[in-house]
Amino acid sequence: MVEQIHGMDRTGVRFPVGPQMQSKKFQRRIENFTCEKCGAEVKGNGYTDHCPVCLWGRHVDVNPGDRAAECGGMMEPVHVDKKGDKYVIEYICKKCGYEFQVKSAGEDNFEVLLKVNWKFSH
Ligand SMILES: [Zn+2]
Ligand SMILES: [Zn+2]
Repeated sequence: MVEQIHGMDRTGVRFPVGPQMQSKKFQRRIENFTCEKCGAEVKGNGYTDHCPVCLWGRHVDVNPGDRAAECGGMMEPVHVDKKGDKYVIEYICKKCGYEFQVKSAGEDNFEVLLKVNWKFSH
């Protein structure tokens, strides 16, 4: 099979490229996951990037939602900022040290959210 492909290349015959070889279109991924930190079953909505129970996330995105990071480390919430009526959670990846900010989702555990800053000010 390999011999045959080489032969075709040398004679200048284009090797056919099927439609499966073309780049994938972006797809919004709706994925459920089990939190590796607290074991909660998290229902994804396509944008879920952290556990709403303990707020830990996984380093899977370079830009929010793109799932382009190959690290896969656990992202620890280290600081919470209030911006207007929204909360912004700062993360640091425990594996590679990457820093990352996400807006808090509406279903996040509010008590845990408030404890993030407390934990690091003591
Ligand atoms: Zn969790
Ligand atoms: Zn990482």
